[in-house]
Amino acid sequence: MPSYTAPAKDIQFILHDVLNVTESGIPGYEELAQDFTAAVIDEAGKLASEVLAPLNAVGDKEGCRLENGIVYTPEGFKEAFDRVREGGWNGLDLPPEYGGQGLPYLIGTAVGEIFVSANMAFNTYQGLTHGAIGAILAHGTDEQKATYLPKMVSLDWTGTMNLTEPHAGTDLGIMRTKAEPQGDGTYSITGQKIFISAGDHDLSENVIHLVLAKAPGGGEGTKGISLFIVPKFLVMENGSLGRRNAVSVGKIEDKMGIHGSATCVMNYDGATGYLLGELHGGMKAMFTMMNEARLGVGLQGYAVAEAAYQNAVAYAKDRLQGRDVTGAKNPDGPADPIIVHPDVRRNLLDQKCFVEGARAFTYWGASLIDKARRADDAAAEGLISLLTPVIKGFLTDKGFEATVGAQQVYGGHGYIEEWGMSQFARDARIPMIYEGANGVQALDLVGRKLAADGGKHVMAFFEIVKTFTRENDGDEALKAGFLDPLKAASKDLQAASMFFVQEGMKNPNAALAGSYDFMHLMGHVCLGLMWARMARAAMAALAAGAPDRPFHEAKIATGRYYMARQLPATKMHLARIQSGAEPVMALDEVDF
Ligand SMILES: Cc1cc2nc3c(=O)[nH]c(=O)nc-3n(C[C@H](O)[C@H](O)[C@H](O)COP(=O)(O)OP(=O)(O)OC[C@H]3O[C@@H](n4cnc5c(N)ncnc54)[C@H](O)[C@@H]3O)c2cc1C
Repeated sequence: MPSYTAPAKDIQFILHDVLNVTESGIPGYEELAQDFTAAVIDEAGKLASEVLAPLNAVGDKEGCRLENGIVYTPEGFKEAFDRVREGGWNGLDLPPEYGGQGLPYLIGTAVGEIFVSANMAFNTYQGLTHGAIGAILAHGTDEQKATYLPKMVSLDWTGTMNLTEPHAGTDLGIMRTKAEPQGDGTYSITGQKIFISAGDHDLSENVIHLVLAKAPGGGEGTKGISLFIVPKFLVMENGSLGRRNAVSVGKIEDKMGIHGSATCVMNYDGATGYLLGELHGGMKAMFTMMNEARLGVGLQGYAVAEAAYQNAVAYAKDRLQGRDVTGAKNPDGPADPIIVHPDVRRNLLDQKCFVEGARAFTYWGASLIDKARRADDAAAEGLISLLTPVIKGFLTDKGFEATVGAQQVYGGHGYIEEWGMSQFARDARIPMIYEGANGVQALDLVGRKLAADGGKHVMAFFEIVKTFTRENDGDEALKAGFLDPLKAASKDLQAASMFFVQEGMKNPNAALAGSYDFMHLMGHVCLGLMWARMARAAMAALAAGAPDRPFHEAKIATGRYYMARQLPATKMHLARIQSGAEPVMALDEVDF
């Protein structure tokens, strides 16, 4: 069975050496001293490896079951959820007035990574609750906040997000769920939602559904959509639970992975709903949650890959097959461990350089969310809006690839359920699809984010890369291995942007046909920037006499690998983008 240990040193390195959190000037970050973050990571890591990780395979095998309208989670989930609840983990980065600890979102992100790596399916119950809390915090009335938030922050109640319908996924404008005003300020919600994560379960006393529905008078398409709070049990004025609302589970989906997460068909049959935010402002309300929710899914991409990678490394050091071509490394044994073979090392390094780069990128994104929120910084808000589809799309695509790479290290044993690598691969597949399929992330990036505010945010991104390379230009140790390749990759990204500006005006398909490649091209430049920053931080630590030399030397070597072996992919993506719409659109539908 696979195991998991929180990569505490790597997390600390990003927080303190790369992001330099306590010196960053972001309000609240001054509290994040080394000792403090080390203690949080240590506690989270213990819970993850001792309680959550051992339940990962149990959840996968057992799945959830629906009996007489009640959803039961796998054996052990309830006790583990109680541990998360009692530890106050959900409230880490939530406001103290509702029972949270008010720490930065960045710390919630680091802990989130650890929990997701240990057991992604289990973490969906808390993750969805966190998202629903964010929506109520941003759009709820004082009364709604007082009614729902304390119980949701404490995880006595959990939350869900209900957008998808059988015929309406990406295109929510065509949804059919209706909200009829009842004349007493409440609404009657009727319709069917599908694929609802954590839709029902036995982990909490109540489930607070946030449901998108169409209320009269809003017009066609997404304009007519409003957001509603629909509790499973209605909440009485004194805060106690009242009657069961008219919402039920139609079925639990039988799916490829995350079996421990109850993905439910939810039927609303005249359920009582309370408007959250403005009438007909449901899509806008959802959009305010999007950066955080999508960053959380991007995180799933690399967090599962981290767990798979850890196990692949252990296996590669243990499995004896073949001999090192340069001479036996284990002459007394029947064969050498497979980690001696260059191709196995290539595979492991592809995973390692991705996971560590992705972690830096995600934490940087989380710090931008904090900066936007805590310092009211519009530039940080603009930048994270631009980067969000890249974090979501690129990190989940590459996370799946890395997880399959880890499975490959096991050879045939990777395909056999007993080893657990198959579960990682199956679980890592869904982040590419939900919270907006990755093709739609690319569309968002190229169709909306690039040109937003006159292209100001993408220009700001280029400026960040330029400033970094300029500031470090005289550093010979960084130049050849890091700065030169980063400059070249950034040039490719600029050329791609220019192509869209010139060709996209004439033919929108020219931009859309290249959008997926653009998302990956930009993802590589972001990871290239992260590796250049990490290399600089590791070199500085070595120069300052850091005690753990091998750790910092390995960072630099892994970064060099990324720059030499992964970053050149920008050339391929640029060539594809510049081929325009013609090769993509050439076939008639009948020729497919
Ligand atoms: C396990 C699981 C959990 C989920 N949890 C939730 C949840 O908690 N709440 C919730 O509301 N939903 C949830 N979903 C639904 C999920 O968000 C949707 O499946 C997803 O958004 C895609 O919608 P769809 O499945 O209808 O695909 P479609 O919208 O039909 O898309 C099909 C394909 O077409 C592509 N496509 C569609 N439109 C365009 C376009 N304009 N341009 C280019 N390509 C396009 C997409 O990229 C995709 O590859 C979950 C789904 C799963 C499987």
